[in-house]
Amino acid sequence: MFTWSDYMQKLEELRGQGAQVFIVGYSVLGRPIYGVFKGGYSGGQVLIQAAIHAREGVTAPVVLKMMENYSGSAGVWCLPMVNPDGAELVRVGLDSVADEKKRGFVLEVNGGSEDFSLWKANINAVDLNVNFPAKWGTGTQNVTYPAPGNYIGAYPLDQPESRALHDFTLKIQPAVTLSYHAKGEVIYKGFECADPYPELAQSLGKSTGYGVFSSGGSAGGYKDWFVTTSYLPGVTVEVGDSAASYGELYAQTDAIYARNAQVLDICARFVQDILNG
Ligand SMILES: [Zn+2]
Repeated sequence: MFTWSDYMQKLEELRGQGAQVFIVGYSVLGRPIYGVFKGGYSGGQVLIQAAIHAREGVTAPVVLKMMENYSGSAGVWCLPMVNPDGAELVRVGLDSVADEKKRGFVLEVNGGSEDFSLWKANINAVDLNVNFPAKWGTGTQNVTYPAPGNYIGAYPLDQPESRALHDFTLKIQPAVTLSYHAKGEVIYKGFECADPYPELAQSLGKSTGYGVFSSGGSAGGYKDWFVTTSYLPGVTVEVGDSAASYGELYAQTDAIYARNAQVLDICARFVQDILNG
Protein backbone atom coordinates (compact mmCIF):
# COMPACT_ATOMS: atom_id res chain seq x y z
CA MET A 1 0.00 0.00 0.00
CA PHE A 2 0.96 3.63 -0.38
CA THR A 3 -0.11 5.55 2.72
CA TRP A 4 -0.58 9.27 3.16
CA SER A 5 2.63 9.41 5.18
CA ASP A 6 4.47 7.53 2.39
CA TYR A 7 3.13 10.25 0.10
CA MET A 8 4.36 13.08 2.38
CA GLN A 9 7.77 11.41 2.63
CA LYS A 10 8.10 11.11 -1.16
CA LEU A 11 7.20 14.78 -1.60
CA GLU A 12 9.82 15.68 1.00
CA GLU A 13 12.44 13.59 -0.83
CA LEU A 14 11.59 15.31 -4.10
CA ARG A 15 11.89 18.70 -2.42
CA GLY A 16 15.29 17.58 -1.14
CA GLN A 17 16.28 16.81 -4.74
CA GLY A 18 15.48 20.38 -5.73
CA ALA A 19 11.97 19.82 -7.08
CA GLN A 20 9.31 22.40 -6.27
CA VAL A 21 6.40 21.08 -4.22
CA PHE A 22 3.27 23.22 -4.01
CA ILE A 23 -0.49 23.04 -3.54
CA VAL A 24 -2.85 23.56 -6.48
CA GLY A 25 -6.12 23.25 -4.59
CA TYR A 26 -8.03 21.36 -1.92
CA SER A 27 -10.35 18.36 -2.01
CA VAL A 28 -13.94 18.35 -0.72
CA LEU A 29 -12.66 17.26 2.71
CA GLY A 30 -9.87 19.84 2.66
CA ARG A 31 -6.94 17.60 1.77
CA PRO A 32 -4.27 19.38 -0.29
CA ILE A 33 -3.90 18.52 -3.97
CA TYR A 34 -0.14 18.69 -4.39
CA GLY A 35 1.91 19.57 -7.41
CA VAL A 36 5.58 18.82 -8.11
CA PHE A 37 7.70 20.62 -10.70
CA LYS A 38 11.07 19.73 -12.21
CA GLY A 39 12.95 21.09 -15.22
CA GLY A 40 12.87 24.55 -16.80
CA TYR A 41 10.16 27.12 -17.42
CA SER A 42 11.10 27.96 -20.99
CA GLY A 43 9.87 25.91 -23.91
CA GLY A 44 7.04 23.41 -23.98
CA GLN A 45 5.79 22.03 -20.69
CA VAL A 46 4.49 18.57 -19.79
CA LEU A 47 1.69 17.92 -17.29
CA ILE A 48 1.27 14.48 -15.74
CA GLN A 49 -1.59 13.67 -13.37
CA ALA A 50 -2.57 10.52 -11.48
CA ALA A 51 -5.02 9.00 -9.01
CA ILE A 52 -8.01 10.98 -10.28
CA HIS A 53 -9.86 7.67 -9.81
CA ALA A 54 -9.88 6.59 -6.18
CA ARG A 55 -9.22 2.88 -6.67
CA GLU A 56 -6.26 3.58 -8.97
CA GLY A 57 -4.06 4.90 -6.16
CA VAL A 58 -1.09 2.85 -7.38
CA THR A 59 -0.59 5.44 -10.12
CA ALA A 60 0.58 7.96 -7.46
CA PRO A 61 3.77 6.10 -6.43
CA VAL A 62 4.39 5.30 -10.12
CA VAL A 63 4.36 8.93 -11.28
CA LEU A 64 6.34 10.01 -8.20
CA LYS A 65 9.05 7.54 -9.18
CA MET A 66 8.97 8.96 -12.70
CA MET A 67 9.48 12.44 -11.26
CA GLU A 68 12.24 11.24 -8.95
CA ASN A 69 14.18 9.89 -11.94
CA TYR A 70 13.48 12.77 -14.34
CA SER A 71 16.45 15.05 -14.96
CA GLY A 72 15.59 16.67 -18.30
CA SER A 73 15.45 20.37 -19.10
CA ALA A 74 11.80 20.53 -20.24
CA GLY A 75 9.42 21.57 -17.48
CA VAL A 76 7.34 18.71 -16.04
CA TRP A 77 4.41 19.45 -13.74
CA CYS A 78 3.10 16.48 -11.80
CA LEU A 79 -0.15 16.19 -9.82
CA PRO A 80 0.39 12.77 -8.21
CA MET A 81 -2.96 12.52 -6.44
CA VAL A 82 -5.86 14.53 -7.89
CA ASN A 83 -8.46 12.69 -5.77
CA PRO A 84 -6.92 12.38 -2.28
CA ASP A 85 -10.26 11.87 -0.45
CA GLY A 86 -11.22 9.01 -2.75
CA ALA A 87 -7.80 7.38 -2.55
CA GLU A 88 -7.94 7.52 1.25
CA LEU A 89 -11.48 6.13 1.27
CA VAL A 90 -10.28 3.12 -0.74
CA ARG A 91 -7.19 2.63 1.43
CA VAL A 92 -8.54 3.33 4.94
CA GLY A 93 -12.32 2.99 4.55
CA LEU A 94 -14.97 5.04 6.36
CA ASP A 95 -12.56 6.13 9.11
CA SER A 96 -10.90 8.39 6.51
CA VAL A 97 -14.10 10.50 6.42
CA ALA A 98 -14.24 12.72 9.51
CA ASP A 99 -17.44 14.50 8.47
CA GLU A 100 -20.36 12.41 9.77
CA LYS A 101 -22.82 13.49 7.06
CA LYS A 102 -20.37 12.61 4.29
CA ARG A 103 -19.66 9.28 5.97
CA GLY A 104 -23.35 8.36 5.92
CA PHE A 105 -23.63 9.58 2.35
CA VAL A 106 -20.80 7.47 0.90
CA LEU A 107 -22.01 4.42 2.84
CA GLU A 108 -25.47 4.85 1.33
CA VAL A 109 -24.10 5.39 -2.18
CA ASN A 110 -22.00 2.25 -1.71
CA GLY A 111 -25.15 0.22 -1.04
CA GLY A 112 -24.43 -0.04 2.69
CA SER A 113 -21.17 -1.91 2.10
CA GLU A 114 -18.01 -0.83 3.91
CA ASP A 115 -15.89 -2.33 1.15
CA PHE A 116 -14.76 0.70 -0.89
CA SER A 117 -12.06 -1.12 -2.87
CA LEU A 118 -13.83 -0.44 -6.20
CA TRP A 119 -14.75 3.22 -5.50
CA LYS A 120 -13.69 5.58 -8.34
CA ALA A 121 -15.36 8.86 -7.39
CA ASN A 122 -14.55 11.70 -5.00
CA ILE A 123 -16.31 12.05 -1.63
CA ASN A 124 -19.38 13.64 -3.28
CA ALA A 125 -19.69 10.45 -5.37
CA VAL A 126 -18.83 12.36 -8.56
CA ASP A 127 -16.48 10.63 -11.01
CA LEU A 128 -13.94 13.41 -11.60
CA ASN A 129 -12.88 11.99 -14.95
CA VAL A 130 -16.35 12.44 -16.47
CA ASN A 131 -16.77 15.92 -14.96
CA PHE A 132 -14.93 17.91 -17.68
CA PRO A 133 -16.58 20.03 -20.39
CA ALA A 134 -15.98 17.78 -23.41
CA LYS A 135 -19.31 16.43 -24.65
CA TRP A 136 -20.14 16.18 -20.95
CA GLY A 137 -22.83 13.63 -20.13
CA THR A 138 -22.70 11.77 -23.45
CA GLY A 139 -20.37 8.91 -22.43
CA THR A 140 -21.76 5.40 -22.81
CA GLN A 141 -21.20 4.57 -19.12
CA ASN A 142 -22.28 7.93 -17.67
CA VAL A 143 -24.82 8.00 -14.86
CA THR A 144 -26.76 11.02 -13.58
CA TYR A 145 -26.98 10.19 -9.86
CA PRO A 146 -24.31 9.84 -7.16
CA ALA A 147 -22.52 6.51 -7.56
CA PRO A 148 -19.18 4.82 -6.75
CA GLY A 149 -18.19 5.51 -10.38
CA ASN A 150 -19.36 7.22 -13.59
CA TYR A 151 -21.55 9.98 -12.08
CA ILE A 152 -21.01 13.11 -14.18
CA GLY A 153 -21.90 15.65 -11.46
CA ALA A 154 -24.57 18.36 -11.55
CA TYR A 155 -22.64 20.37 -14.14
CA PRO A 156 -19.10 20.29 -15.59
CA LEU A 157 -16.33 21.14 -13.10
CA ASP A 158 -18.71 21.34 -10.12
CA GLN A 159 -16.13 19.55 -7.93
CA PRO A 160 -13.09 21.26 -6.36
CA GLU A 161 -10.70 18.53 -7.54
CA SER A 162 -11.67 18.66 -11.24
CA ARG A 163 -11.79 22.47 -11.06
CA ALA A 164 -8.28 22.57 -9.58
CA LEU A 165 -6.86 20.32 -12.34
CA HIS A 166 -8.68 22.34 -15.02
CA ASP A 167 -7.55 25.74 -13.72
CA PHE A 168 -3.98 24.56 -13.16
CA THR A 169 -3.82 23.27 -16.75
CA LEU A 170 -4.96 26.65 -18.08
CA LYS A 171 -2.28 28.33 -15.99
CA ILE A 172 0.57 26.06 -17.14
CA GLN A 173 -0.59 25.72 -20.78
CA PRO A 174 1.15 22.36 -21.22
CA ALA A 175 2.01 21.11 -24.71
CA VAL A 176 1.38 17.50 -23.63
CA THR A 177 -0.73 15.96 -20.87
CA LEU A 178 -0.40 12.44 -19.49
CA SER A 179 -3.22 10.93 -17.43
CA TYR A 180 -2.25 7.88 -15.38
CA HIS A 181 -4.98 5.32 -14.69
CA ALA A 182 -5.21 1.62 -13.89
CA LYS A 183 -5.49 -0.96 -15.23
CA GLY A 184 -5.00 -2.89 -18.48
CA GLU A 185 -1.61 -1.91 -19.93
CA VAL A 186 -3.02 0.17 -22.77
CA ILE A 187 -2.67 3.73 -24.03
CA TYR A 188 -5.57 5.85 -25.28
CA LYS A 189 -5.09 8.86 -27.49
CA GLY A 190 -7.26 11.51 -29.09
CA PHE A 191 -10.94 12.28 -28.60
CA GLU A 192 -13.55 11.57 -31.26
CA CYS A 193 -12.24 13.02 -34.54
CA ALA A 194 -9.39 14.91 -32.89
CA ASP A 195 -6.10 13.02 -32.84
CA PRO A 196 -3.31 15.60 -32.71
CA TYR A 197 0.27 14.33 -33.05
CA PRO A 198 -0.61 10.61 -32.92
CA GLU A 199 3.09 9.77 -33.26
CA LEU A 200 3.66 10.70 -29.60
CA ALA A 201 1.30 7.98 -28.33
CA GLN A 202 2.87 5.56 -30.79
CA SER A 203 6.36 6.13 -29.42
CA LEU A 204 5.04 5.83 -25.86
CA GLY A 205 3.43 2.54 -26.89
CA LYS A 206 6.69 1.29 -28.32
CA SER A 207 8.62 2.24 -25.20
CA THR A 208 6.15 0.83 -22.65
CA GLY A 209 4.99 -2.17 -24.66
CA TYR A 210 1.38 -1.07 -24.14
CA GLY A 211 -1.08 -1.24 -27.05
CA VAL A 212 -2.21 2.13 -28.43
CA PHE A 213 -5.88 2.78 -29.15
CA SER A 214 -8.15 5.67 -30.06
CA SER A 215 -10.63 6.44 -27.29
CA GLY A 216 -14.16 5.27 -27.92
CA GLY A 217 -17.37 5.87 -25.98
CA SER A 218 -15.78 8.19 -23.43
CA ALA A 219 -16.78 11.78 -22.77
CA GLY A 220 -16.11 14.40 -20.14
CA GLY A 221 -12.61 13.12 -19.37
CA TYR A 222 -9.64 15.34 -18.60
CA LYS A 223 -7.84 14.08 -21.70
CA ASP A 224 -10.98 14.60 -23.79
CA TRP A 225 -11.21 18.21 -22.63
CA PHE A 226 -7.49 18.88 -23.12
CA VAL A 227 -7.36 17.44 -26.63
CA THR A 228 -10.45 19.26 -27.91
CA THR A 229 -9.57 22.63 -26.42
CA SER A 230 -5.85 22.67 -27.21
CA TYR A 231 -5.52 20.36 -30.21
CA LEU A 232 -2.35 19.10 -28.57
CA PRO A 233 -1.70 15.51 -27.52
CA GLY A 234 -3.39 14.24 -24.36
CA VAL A 235 -2.57 10.64 -23.59
CA THR A 236 -4.18 8.28 -21.09
CA VAL A 237 -1.93 5.50 -19.80
CA GLU A 238 -3.63 2.54 -18.12
CA VAL A 239 -0.98 0.75 -16.07
CA GLY A 240 -1.00 -2.64 -14.40
CA ASP A 241 -1.97 -6.18 -15.25
CA SER A 242 -5.75 -6.37 -15.66
CA ALA A 243 -5.81 -9.77 -13.93
CA ALA A 244 -4.56 -8.24 -10.66
CA SER A 245 -6.89 -6.49 -8.21
CA TYR A 246 -6.40 -2.76 -7.64
CA GLY A 247 -4.91 -3.53 -4.24
CA GLU A 248 -2.52 -6.12 -5.64
CA LEU A 249 -1.13 -3.59 -8.10
CA TYR A 250 0.85 -1.86 -5.32
CA ALA A 251 3.19 -4.86 -5.17
CA GLN A 252 3.91 -4.22 -8.88
CA THR A 253 4.86 -0.54 -8.47
CA ASP A 254 8.52 -1.08 -9.42
CA ALA A 255 7.66 -3.26 -12.43
CA ILE A 256 5.07 -0.72 -13.62
CA TYR A 257 7.59 2.09 -13.20
CA ALA A 258 10.19 0.11 -15.18
CA ARG A 259 7.87 -0.03 -18.19
CA ASN A 260 7.16 3.71 -17.90
CA ALA A 261 10.73 4.81 -17.15
CA GLN A 262 11.23 6.51 -20.56
CA VAL A 263 7.85 8.22 -20.78
CA LEU A 264 8.81 11.65 -19.43
CA ASP A 265 11.98 11.79 -21.54
CA ILE A 266 9.99 10.95 -24.68
CA CYS A 267 7.46 13.68 -23.86
CA ALA A 268 10.23 16.15 -23.04
CA ARG A 269 11.87 15.48 -26.40
CA PHE A 270 8.51 15.83 -28.11
CA VAL A 271 7.69 19.24 -26.61
CA GLN A 272 11.15 20.50 -27.55
CA ASP A 273 10.78 19.19 -31.11
CA ILE A 274 7.30 20.55 -31.86
CA LEU A 275 8.14 23.99 -30.57
CA ASN A 276 11.25 24.05 -32.72
CA GLY A 277 9.08 23.16 -35.71
ZN1 LIG B 1 -9.23 5.54 -14.18
